Amino acid sequence: MENDILYRDGLVNEEEREIDKSIRPKSFEDFSGQEKLVENLKVFVEAAKIRNESLDHVILSGPPGLGKTTLANIISNELKSNIRVTSGPVLEKAGDLAGILTNLESHDVLFIDEIHRLNVTVEEFLYSAMEDFKIDLIIDKGPGARSIQLNLNPFTLIGATTRAGLLSSPLRARFGINMHLEYYDSAILEKIVYRSAKLLGIEIDADAAREIAMRSRGTPRIANSLLRRVRDFAQVKKLKRIHMEITEFALDALNIDKSGLDEMDNRILLTIVDKYQGGPVGLNTIATAVSEEPGTIEEVYEPFLIKEGYLKRTPRGREVTALTYKHLGKEKHDTLTLGFE
Ligand code: ADP
Repeated sequence: MENDILYRDGLVNEEEREIDKSIRPKSFEDFSGQEKLVENLKVFVEAAKIRNESLDHVILSGPPGLGKTTLANIISNELKSNIRVTSGPVLEKAGDLAGILTNLESHDVLFIDEIHRLNVTVEEFLYSAMEDFKIDLIIDKGPGARSIQLNLNPFTLIGATTRAGLLSSPLRARFGINMHLEYYDSAILEKIVYRSAKLLGIEIDADAAREIAMRSRGTPRIANSLLRRVRDFAQVKKLKRIHMEITEFALDALNIDKSGLDEMDNRILLTIVDKYQGGPVGLNTIATAVSEEPGTIEEVYEPFLIKEGYLKRTPRGREVTALTYKHLGKEKHDTLTLGFE
């Protein structure tokens, strides 16, 4: 369970949240990786500034911990605007959103995390705000109720989602800029580990930084949280520098998988191997077996397993690869097909 917490957020208390703030990149220059996406964003931000207009609405999609919130903050920094942060599940009523929207200043950023979890009424209320910078409010109740239209300051909505597939098409259509974040290569994660170590005043050897990067599931949030945990072990052992030995010791003590896979990754792979002879097997069948939503498996877990070469999508379903057998320490048993002439 401890690992579960580590993987999801990695921030165990207020102090850690403060540390996180101090290492979060604040400008495009500090943000490593996702080069193409960043290059494009820079152009759009620059163009909006030249025209003195609000930046078009942006949707950032991709698995957790890849930098969506960080990018939203960077965009607002680069625009020199304020950012207001909220999330889909928190906005329960259209009124909650109206209060936020009417307080936005010209060219401000409104960041809605987990935007796929907005309820339908709030989502529909957002449409005219996004499109025309106007909202309709109902005042009074009963027979005296009437609707008034309010003009809003032009603003930029940045929505983040781990489940792009769950966005309704009317909402998706209202975003002019649609960007998807990919998992990071370990070379870039290594750079991120170095940068965070420097900001935290930790000295770390190159091979130790590489080891942390390789075991971070392609995710900067995990890389940063593993760095902090390894630092704890190093401090207790009164080490001045994080070296490979303490890194391996700490990561093994924390049960961090050698290849950086998390518990659900391993469950998915084990299920396909043990119950379905390595596949091919359908997505829904896997989902039922591991008690997770098919969409979450498809959008959050599979992309990493496919990128790393553990899983293949075939027309007949999902299939594991030789690497999976090696990773799980299992032998592949070919099913015996008996043919009758
Ligand atoms: P998301 O919103 O996608 O879940 P966050 O933006 O909260 O992810 O990022 C998680 C952590 O990872 C942040 O604390 C940030 O410091 C770090 N991080 C994310 N992307 C990068 C990056 N490209 N370079 C450096 N650090 C990053």
